[in-house]
Amino acid sequence: MIIKLIKRHLDKLPHRFMFYLTIAIIIIMTINLSFILHLQREQALEELKEKAYIIGKQFESMREYIAKNQDAINYDSEGNFEFKHLNPSRVSKGVGDIFSNWTEYEIKLARENPRNPENKPDSIETDLLNQLKADRSLTEIWTKDDIEGEKYFRYIIPLSIEQPCLDCHGGRAGEIDIAGYEKEGYNLGDFAGGISITVPMETFYKNLLSTIQNYLMLVVLTIILSLIIAYILMRYFVADPIKHLSKITKSMGKGDLDSDLSKLKAHGEIKSLANDFDIMAEKLKEMYNKLEHKVNERTEQLVKANEKLTRSNQLQSEFLANISHELRTPLTSIIAFTEIMLDQAEEEGNKQQAENLKDMQECGEKLVSMINDLLDMAKIEAGQMQVNLMSTDLSDVALSVEKTLTPLAKYKRVKLVNDIGYEIPLVIADPDRLRQILLNLVGNGIKFTPQGGTVKITAELHGDDVIVIVEDSGVGISEENLKMIFNKFKQVSSSSTSNNHGTGLGLALAQNLVHLHRGEIWAESEINKGSTFKFTVPIDKEDRG
Ligand code: ADP
Repeated sequence: MIIKLIKRHLDKLPHRFMFYLTIAIIIIMTINLSFILHLQREQALEELKEKAYIIGKQFESMREYIAKNQDAINYDSEGNFEFKHLNPSRVSKGVGDIFSNWTEYEIKLARENPRNPENKPDSIETDLLNQLKADRSLTEIWTKDDIEGEKYFRYIIPLSIEQPCLDCHGGRAGEIDIAGYEKEGYNLGDFAGGISITVPMETFYKNLLSTIQNYLMLVVLTIILSLIIAYILMRYFVADPIKHLSKITKSMGKGDLDSDLSKLKAHGEIKSLANDFDIMAEKLKEMYNKLEHKVNERTEQLVKANEKLTRSNQLQSEFLANISHELRTPLTSIIAFTEIMLDQAEEEGNKQQAENLKDMQECGEKLVSMINDLLDMAKIEAGQMQVNLMSTDLSDVALSVEKTLTPLAKYKRVKLVNDIGYEIPLVIADPDRLRQILLNLVGNGIKFTPQGGTVKITAELHGDDVIVIVEDSGVGISEENLKMIFNKFKQVSSSSTSNNHGTGLGLALAQNLVHLHRGEIWAESEINKGSTFKFTVPIDKEDRG
């Protein structure tokens, strides 16, 4: 959770910068602190030694003075000797006691075998004295001691036997000196113990601790101040300009190319980045304007071309409508006259003429139907064919087609079966166009089925569609030709089709009309076995529901 929070914050540049900066400062300050701590300790210890040395040397000077003035102390003006018990040893003890009372320091004479058993050295002093005795070149020795949980600094300055000492401690060993003690029999320069100084270290540690505390406070303050300053500078010089830049870039991305970056408060590299951005925005604007101009130009051209096309389409369909009207009017007259002449020939019993006139009538009717197909195709291509969609009963349409084509089927001796019953739901279609599609398919079926064959119309429900199926047992279509039969003016040559005249427009028209009903049309076939044409029409859901 906390890690997630930190991670989220670290996504922001100033925060990440501050995070790493803080870590760096803390590491540097920790190294610094441990170094300073070490230095402080060394320095304080040095001061302690210096102090002990001075005190020791003062004490030694005092002893030296007393030793040198023994005669002045013990002889009166008449030259009579009286030992006053103010020898160096006694005076040292007395002065040492007073000093210890007045200060927290303890100072005394430490000797291996003191004359006074009270002056017997403790274990630390014995140890230090032994070291001094072993190495006479040492001018001082020190150590740290722990007495009842308190730390003490133990320090000893070595003493040698000097000339004045010999009176009491030199000579023959065992001889009695003026103070009444047996002489030790020392020679000049012999090791004579040392001045032992004991200093409690409490003050030393207290001072060290307060130095560290002060330093730590300074470090924390420095870190906080540096971080605040770094944060403000970071925001001012880097984060804010970048934020501004990114805001402008975003609005540029959304298409606002008018953003002015010259007012951006930035310096150095970021300022020059902003300038580069400005130049880029200017260029983009230029390009965009050019592009817009070009698009407008092209759109205008396109609109004009479209208008021209619409106009030419209109002209084309107008022309076709006119032409077909012009063609149909005389054709209708020809057919009508032919019928009159046919009636007359039949009345007169002129069989040959009647047959010729019948052929003429059929040809005329075919011509009318061809013209109608052509006109429809032209209308579809001009986008002017409109279907009048409504709820339509497919069985009614199929029945009407059956009625129309039964005479042809009979004539060709082909069985026509209409299996579409009233159980098929209503469809959404233009009944006239649906009839036209079915007429084309069933007409083709009869046309391409030899005598004795069958053409069957059925329908089945498939989801939201009705599939209308026209199946024949005719000549069939090869796989290769099957791909092309829906193409305009495509007639597939085969022995049996050569005498079936047509325009090659029937299936193309049927396909276009099916598409206008949002349906699909396709065919399956096998040579000499027959063909099956299928198309879909959407059902009227309201009727079904
Ligand atoms: P057409 O006016 O020539 O009949 P269509 O577009 O209706 O034009 O048909 C194109 C061609 O497809 C026909 O010439 C014929 O070769 C083939 N064709 C169409 N229906 C059938 C069918 N039921 N059986 C065999 N061939 C067919």
